[in-house]
Amino acid sequence: MQTVYGKNDTQAERMGATHDTVLFFDTTLRDGEQSPGCSMSEPEKLLMAHALEELGVDILEAGFAISSEGDFQAIRRIAREIRKPVIASLARARREDIERAAASIDGAERARIHTFLASSDIHLEFKLKMSREKALAQVGEMVALARSYAEDVEFSAEDATRTEIGYLCAMVRVAIEAGATTINLPDTTGYSTPEDYAAMYRAVHGCVLAGTPYAERVVLSTHCHDDLGLAVANTLAGIQGGARQVECTINGIGERAGNAALEEIAAALTVRADRYQVRSNIVLEKLYPVSQLLGETIAFRPAPNKAIVGENAFAHEAGIHQHGMLANPLTYEIMTPASVGQPANKLVLGKHSGRAALRARLKELGFALEPVELEAAYAAFITLADRKKSIYDQDLISLAARASEGQTVSAAQVY
Ligand code: MN
Repeated sequence: MQTVYGKNDTQAERMGATHDTVLFFDTTLRDGEQSPGCSMSEPEKLLMAHALEELGVDILEAGFAISSEGDFQAIRRIAREIRKPVIASLARARREDIERAAASIDGAERARIHTFLASSDIHLEFKLKMSREKALAQVGEMVALARSYAEDVEFSAEDATRTEIGYLCAMVRVAIEAGATTINLPDTTGYSTPEDYAAMYRAVHGCVLAGTPYAERVVLSTHCHDDLGLAVANTLAGIQGGARQVECTINGIGERAGNAALEEIAAALTVRADRYQVRSNIVLEKLYPVSQLLGETIAFRPAPNKAIVGENAFAHEAGIHQHGMLANPLTYEIMTPASVGQPANKLVLGKHSGRAALRARLKELGFALEPVELEAAYAAFITLADRKKSIYDQDLISLAARASEGQTVSAAQVY
């Protein structure tokens, strides 16, 4: 395994992370891919990996090596072909998993083993049937084993947000002392709130990192699920609590209600830079193309009203909004569609539209109507829009042609 770092570089320096940079850890190909309707073939994963590299993700989690031969081979291929991001491979805190993960990324330019063990009592007791003490010992042993294969090791305390804070700190301390360079505190079940999530980072920083050399060397990471629709809000709160890596997926795909959506976090950090005051390496103009590529690859696309990348994210139908948009887009848009790679804002003509939007669209289509003609066309348009869900340009052309010839326009004629 190659490494481009000196032994004494801190993790933050290696990754280019500073107090004002947030690293994007994309898990579309792991947490995303393992959810219903999202499985991808090896060539599809490779295509996505290239797109994610161009998007500027810092760490790309390529899969869960031990879960299947197919996953293992896909990680291996991605590790060899994708050179810019760190390639991460997931492993439970078990010897076979870690050895398999290490083998899957041995061709990577920059490789990370990401290992995890549950920290909450409910997971330890019912899922793992393991005592708290045994879990700590296993974390120490397995993180050390992972470090023997990779300089870059991430440890996740699964179900961190439902873990008693004193024990969570103990587990994080063991992982760091065994050599973990990134500590991830997932909201595995999507249970947390922004206030609680931020407080957890401050608490862990206070009880483990503050005043130690670890504070500079270790990156804290978020991983949020959207069961209560709070994944992105929690992620942003985690950043305010001191996290400098965010785990997320394109279109927010992932287990159950999904993961925090990469495009929403990246846009929020940019549009509200006044609030968050951190930068990232994400190329915003690539967000929409990458989202489209994923939608074409898996079984479903984002909902039309999905923030940033949905088909209606920049569509305006209400007349008052359309009038404002035509006067100055800033009246109803906080970012331009072009800034996130969407083709253009859409003034959707429907029954909520006003004269201003109709006049603007007709002008685009080559009709400059006199006020009285516009009135006639508008009346016919509203009648038509009441009956039809979508108004096409052909409808408008027919309608405008009749109006400009001074004919009485009835919806029946143009439909
Ligand atoms: Mn997850």
